[in-house]
Amino acid sequence: MKRVLITGASGFLGSHLCDRFVNEGFFVIGMDNFITGDYDNIRHLEKNNNFQFIEHDVTEFVKIEGQLDYILHFASPASPIDYLKIPIQTLKVGSLGTHNLLGLAKAKNARILIASTSEVYGDPLVHPQSENYYGNVNSIGPRGVYDEAKRFQESITMAYHRFHGLETRIVRIFNTYGPRMRLNDGRVIPAFMGQALRGEDLTIFGDGSQTRSFCYVDDQVEGIFRLLFSDYSYPVNIGNPHEISIKDFAFEIIKLTNSNQKVIFKELPVDDPSQRQPDISLAKKLLDWAPKIGREEGMKRTFEYFKNLPEEKLYKSEHKDFSNHIKK
Ligand code: UDP
Repeated sequence: MKRVLITGASGFLGSHLCDRFVNEGFFVIGMDNFITGDYDNIRHLEKNNNFQFIEHDVTEFVKIEGQLDYILHFASPASPIDYLKIPIQTLKVGSLGTHNLLGLAKAKNARILIASTSEVYGDPLVHPQSENYYGNVNSIGPRGVYDEAKRFQESITMAYHRFHGLETRIVRIFNTYGPRMRLNDGRVIPAFMGQALRGEDLTIFGDGSQTRSFCYVDDQVEGIFRLLFSDYSYPVNIGNPHEISIKDFAFEIIKLTNSNQKVIFKELPVDDPSQRQPDISLAKKLLDWAPKIGREEGMKRTFEYFKNLPEEKLYKSEHKDFSNHIKK
């Protein structure tokens, strides 16, 4: 039986990956420190004999007993409000955490896939973004902690590949959504859906003309799965190219949720990218992959999930109290 370590296992993408690999017949070791993850996302795997959970912060030395065939490094805060609240941890998990996991991959002779992001393109001057675009990133802005950690992560991964001959894969993930997103993580889909469910107005940042392209989680997981088993070591974009402005999107959500809410306009966060759309020609060619689930269907499934969350999750304060996680 092949053994795979998934970091960020109790997070949104990590937990879906745990499910996928368990279902595909792998032995999965899930790892998380719960800084932004939620054990509820993997509780259903607790009694599965092919799943083991280890609570650990990957910025500290990572020790795994026995054979290890694959590593998927998905531990990281991934929401703009998290970057403001836990900037140092965001930097550390992308840099020190990645270093530890590359070292582990080398020691175990395992193949490693790291989760990179469309944020490596920053506020892109090229549209849509293809893998050969170098990006337009403000290294010292509030989002720089995430963007630069991920850019460093790509660099160190390529260095391990070139210098040590390690088998590495890099996925550049564009905005992805679906069940198990943290309702109050501040990202636009949970934010709008939470507001609709609580009967609040939907908060559009800026004038809402900025665009995003949203990929349903099952499509994202399929792309990642295929990339891991491909033989390509350079970064590959995985996302859904169907682009929409945030303002149009707000009205789409009002319609979907049947909520009659108004929209209100708030200040645009610093360095908020004005446009984002993946060029997925490479993924199509290499992996024979393209997204299958349209926004209407994906959003319906996502809303079903949020609608059925227990009350306390709906009304929990904006973000978790991170103070326990910050070492004095
Ligand atoms: N956004 C918004 N209202 C919200 C939350 C986000 O208008 O309540 C906007 C945000 O400014 C950005 C887009 O929605 O332009 C997507 O934001 P998100 O935080 O989901 O992720 P990003 O793509 O910026 O990393």
